[in-house]
Amino acid sequence: MSTSAVSGTSERSGASAGAPGSGEMSVRTAFAGMRRVADVVFRAGCPDCRARFELGAGALRLAIGATSERTFYSFTCPECGVCVRKPAGERIVELLTGGGVRTLRLHSTL
Ligand SMILES: [Zn+2]
Repeated sequence: MSTSAVSGTSERSGASAGAPGSGEMSVRTAFAGMRRVADVVFRAGCPDCRARFELGAGALRLAIGATSERTFYSFTCPECGVCVRKPAGERIVELLTGGGVRTLRLHSTL
């Protein structure tokens, strides 16, 4: 899972024998395909073994509680295997949900 999100330049010197005028359409199509949510990578750290790593959206889980204090995200450390749970603020919630992380709604009736 090593995705280089920075290198997004794909220079094509397309000398294909196509009809002039159809080039604009193909550029648009390629540009639309570049926005892939699945390529989002989140940086995380393990408080147990202090390892730093990058996790894809599928490795993270977000649990939204009734209050912000009960909202947290969790993941499993790939180094030591411990289950890490951290509180998630509004920014983190937006980041994770926007990145396609599985969101779990915790219904707590007071
Ligand atoms: Zn760890």
